[in-house]
Amino acid sequence: MPATLTAAHAAAPLVPVSVSVRDLSNCERAVALYASDMPTGYRQRGRDYSQLCAWIVQGAARLRLGELYRSAAYAYGYRLLCLADLTTADQQRAHALRFPDGGRFEKAERMAGLVTCFAGLGMSGAAMERGDRPGVEGNCRCYGSGWIRDRDDADDPTTEYAMNCPGHNPHALGSAYPAKWVIA
Ligand SMILES: [Zn+2]
Repeated sequence: MPATLTAAHAAAPLVPVSVSVRDLSNCERAVALYASDMPTGYRQRGRDYSQLCAWIVQGAARLRLGELYRSAAYAYGYRLLCLADLTTADQQRAHALRFPDGGRFEKAERMAGLVTCFAGLGMSGAAMERGDRPGVEGNCRCYGSGWIRDRDDADDPTTEYAMNCPGHNPHALGSAYPAKWVIA
């Protein structure tokens, strides 16, 4: 009946978009697993990754893609800042709010890594591009500038140095010092 079809179409945007694992970055796969029904104590046995893939799709549908992309970017940025030992208390709070169960998140990261390395699914170009764009949630040591300045000796301005922020500027693009500073 036409009326029924119209109603079904009107409701369509509310239905989560189905997504394939191939279209998700490694970090998006981890976040989707975190949000899925995967038991935290799950252990992968053998080379059949179909159950993990089903959970990834389930978690992605549960979160919706926008939220999945956003959370995964923040998780990746936080991981990069952790590796450089540059997180702030604000960022640690934000990460703990987003992923309250740290053990489950670590499990999800490990399982996503298995799927990415061994399931042989590949990754779409768009997913790879997103996977290379970290996000930062919470006050950052670089104040959003992409560069963190510090001094070896707090009292000696000649010992100042700058390093790129792994979260805001992972590829060290641009200059730590604006051009007008160099001219002056
Ligand atoms: Zn930063």
